[in-house]
Amino acid sequence: MSDDGNVRNVVILGSGPAGLTSAIYTARGDLSPLVLEGEPSSTSDQPGGQLMLTTEVENFPGFATGVMGPALMTEMREQALRFGAEIRTEKAARVDLESSPIRVWLAGDPDDAPSILARTVIVATGARSLMLGLPNEARLLGYGVSTCATCDGFFFRDKTIAVVGGGDSALEEALFLTKFASSVTIVHRRDSLRASKIMQDRAFANEKIRFAWNSVVEDVVGGTTVEHLRLRNVLTGELSTLDVSGLFVAIGHAPNTDLFKGQLEMDPAGYLVTHDGTKTALPGVFACGDVQDHVYRQAVTAAGSGCMAAIDAERYLAALEHAASVGEATGGTSPSGLAASAPPSLPTAGATIG
Ligand SMILES: Cc1cc2nc3c(=O)[nH]c(=O)nc-3n(C[C@H](O)[C@H](O)[C@H](O)COP(=O)(O)OP(=O)(O)OC[C@H]3O[C@@H](n4cnc5c(N)ncnc54)[C@H](O)[C@@H]3O)c2cc1C
Repeated sequence: MSDDGNVRNVVILGSGPAGLTSAIYTARGDLSPLVLEGEPSSTSDQPGGQLMLTTEVENFPGFATGVMGPALMTEMREQALRFGAEIRTEKAARVDLESSPIRVWLAGDPDDAPSILARTVIVATGARSLMLGLPNEARLLGYGVSTCATCDGFFFRDKTIAVVGGGDSALEEALFLTKFASSVTIVHRRDSLRASKIMQDRAFANEKIRFAWNSVVEDVVGGTTVEHLRLRNVLTGELSTLDVSGLFVAIGHAPNTDLFKGQLEMDPAGYLVTHDGTKTALPGVFACGDVQDHVYRQAVTAAGSGCMAAIDAERYLAALEHAASVGEATGGTSPSGLAASAPPSLPTAGATIG
């Protein structure tokens, strides 16, 4: 379906591994995607997404000796541009995903005149790790401070580590880290854990796991890497030092989904609900990456689902085009050539854009 410049075939929200993989696939499929890559910020909500905040990525296939997170994202962006994706350094400020065509507002757009109209939207706005807000935390992120044991545990072989948090995911991270670390201290602000009993039993039974109860981290201290933590006992006010090489912050994640409230189905934690691949309940709206995945949260899984969203969008557009040509033959096409409401039935044969 031609992109008439007025109504875009594909608009992609986000430029992490999910969004840029969608862009590579849809650009190679001649769909002229527009990517709103986000805006510069000091958090992971920035062009390139979460990997812009890390150093070495050792588990993304294809890089035998590893790759720096920002370098990987720069390559993905270049790859999308090479095939003709248009990338704008802006955020979607508002969306109307139920209209046809779909409407996307940029900051400053008048209420009645959104800048962007689209046949399909791929939502790849990702998620962010909740952080403690410590003075040195952001500076040492990727240099001993981490939010992902699966990603970074390997770097801490025979080292001492602290994990902050008291829920299931904190204990899951701590148990995983015991494969590498000589000891893992769970720092928790209360004297009991929120985690499920089975996870608690596993943690209590693991001889590498210790607990700093009723304690909060005041700061993480180190020059170029983590050297120790300053802890404060919340009951006595007593300060102490915990010598560790790593701090894993495991106090939760938040998906970037505020924009879609009231329009897209979300689970209780705010993650988008998808079905049959990357489809949402709205025709022409697809979601991929961490914004719809609170389980795996990896660059490669985000990229994989970005590929799926591109293929799903392409099939949707092909079915729209087919419906429009049948409508033309029978005299029933809408002026815009877009389906009025229900999604067209999608072809199940292999995608054409792989
Ligand atoms: C410190 C750290 C280290 C990590 N290390 C690894 C690792 O070694 N290996 C690994 O596999 N995974 C790692 N991960 C996890 C990995 O980074 C994520 O799983 C992956 O980035 C998710 O990709 P995504 O495209 O879904 O979203 P994100 O990377 O979160 O990107 C979201 C994008 O959406 C944009 N956005 C948000 N709101 C809007 C809006 N309104 N309009 C337009 N754009 C918007 C943001 O600017 C951003 O570009 C790490 C994560 C962190 C935080």
